[in-house]
Amino acid sequence: MYILQAINIHKNFGSLGVLHGVSLQVQKGEVIAIIGPSGSGKSTLLRCLNHLERIDSGQIEIEGETIAQNNSEGKAVYSSEAKIAQARRKMGMVFQNFNLFPHKSVMQNLIMAPTLVKNMGKAEAEESARLLLAKVGLSQKADNYPFELSGGQQQRVAIARALAMNPDIMCFDEPTSALDPELTGEVLMVMKDLALEDMTMVVVTHEIGFAREVADRVIFMDEGVIMEEGQAEEVLLNPRQERTSAFLSKVL
Ligand code: ADP
Ligand code: MG
Repeated sequence: MYILQAINIHKNFGSLGVLHGVSLQVQKGEVIAIIGPSGSGKSTLLRCLNHLERIDSGQIEIEGETIAQNNSEGKAVYSSEAKIAQARRKMGMVFQNFNLFPHKSVMQNLIMAPTLVKNMGKAEAEESARLLLAKVGLSQKADNYPFELSGGQQQRVAIARALAMNPDIMCFDEPTSALDPELTGEVLMVMKDLALEDMTMVVVTHEIGFAREVADRVIFMDEGVIMEEGQAEEVLLNPRQERTSAFLSKVL
């Protein structure tokens, strides 16, 4: 059984077709890196997997639960809102621009979802938040506000906040793209630690070195399709497709 499965998904924004039949299977503990040029549909794919966007056709399953599937006319039909909400809770999402709540302290950012969504008691939520802050190396910053932190620190808080919901799958959408180069390392390090703890991860990234070192599988997307996929070494060092090599020569 796959922890996450997408079958032949299509997504349009009005008349613009963005995903043209994308299929993806993720096994528990697997780390998948998605690379590809800007506008190729990487973010849209992640947002569809996370139900932040709805697909037009295809199927999405999370931990064996079917969330969306085609009806007899080949149009995707979603299960109940409750089931979608439940599925979404199994997935943590980290965005390029951190998306922390600006007027809340680091601690408040971390305990908000567990207390509101999971009805966890405040003391318990704070205790688990402290462990997570230690894990991302920010124990000293619990009472600071996002604007008092560097971009790398904010992104590490965002990762801790996603982990506070105890997700089974973590999705990252270019988590280091908004950071100054000297700050990307600290974020990639936290992500690498997560991978070593067998977290299932789907990571959209331009960090080819990270993909090569950490990802089990690399997917190259172009123009709304998966052009090539395989083991990290294969795709990154010996791409079969011309388009993959052309892309890699630009980002490497
Ligand atoms: P990537 O993450 O690979 O850069 P995106 O998934 O963000 O690509 O975008 C793929 C295409 O979909 C782009 O042409 C983009 O302009 C378009 N797109 C993305 N989101 C929306 C939206 N909410 N409404 C309309 N078009 C969108
Ligand atoms: Mg994107």
